[in-house]
Amino acid sequence: MSEVQARFREAVSTRLGVELTDHQMGQYETYFKWLVEWNEKMNLTAITDEEGVYFKHFYDSMMLLKLKQFRHEGTLLDIGAGAGFPSLPVHIAAPNTVCTVVDSLNKRIGFLNELAAALGTPNYKGVHGRAEDFAKPEKNFRGNFDQVTARAVARLNILLELCLPYVRVGGHFFAMKGPEADNEVSESAKALQVLGGKVVDLLKMDLPDELGSRNIVVVEKVRETPKQYPRKAGTPSKSPL
Ligand code: SAM
Repeated sequence: MSEVQARFREAVSTRLGVELTDHQMGQYETYFKWLVEWNEKMNLTAITDEEGVYFKHFYDSMMLLKLKQFRHEGTLLDIGAGAGFPSLPVHIAAPNTVCTVVDSLNKRIGFLNELAAALGTPNYKGVHGRAEDFAKPEKNFRGNFDQVTARAVARLNILLELCLPYVRVGGHFFAMKGPEADNEVSESAKALQVLGGKVVDLLKMDLPDELGSRNIVVVEKVRETPKQYPRKAGTPSKSPL
């Protein structure tokens, strides 16, 4: 095991309270290798050094595991997951979650589905499309997920419209944010009210070794989202609530 992998395992154990098995460590290693290899053929990430991937992608994503609201089982939807963040590092550590990923770039979905097959994670599935287009009842997504996540996809007031329709009432949406989170929460009052969400937590967490600090906004779905949301593709970002 490399020095970075050993530090990662130790940090996940002491700071996040999760003991990773050798099998899971092997899965993270495969993920790292695939990310670097496929990144030569398609744009997946700007971070490709081992420490960066293990801490700024894997550990960063896994900070969700620390939340008291996070469920280590049940259904999880990751909107705009790109190369699988945050859902795939979380699913490796919490394999009883049943994960669906939506991304508007088909190449990234292809990468994730092939990688999931190589990792042996049948409960991790990528679907190509825009978040706005999965809300029709026949798609079976609306109100059907215990938890929804998104990292680095849009500002919170836009993201709420893309994500909250898919959360079941009583479930949670976790928005993984940088230092701007307080401002984003302030500008989201209308979106929360209209879409049926309530901010119940704003967790500030540091990456190990002063690699940066993060905010996770925890939103509980307290009411059904009215049927007209999300509006058609592109509208949430053009005229945010
Ligand atoms: N979540 C990943 C991460 O943290 O590394 C990827 C972030 S990347 C900056 C944003 C991703 O969101 C891209 O893969 C993009 O294709 C996807 N995306 C943006 N808008 C979307 C939408 N409306 N529906 C689905 N995917 C979307």
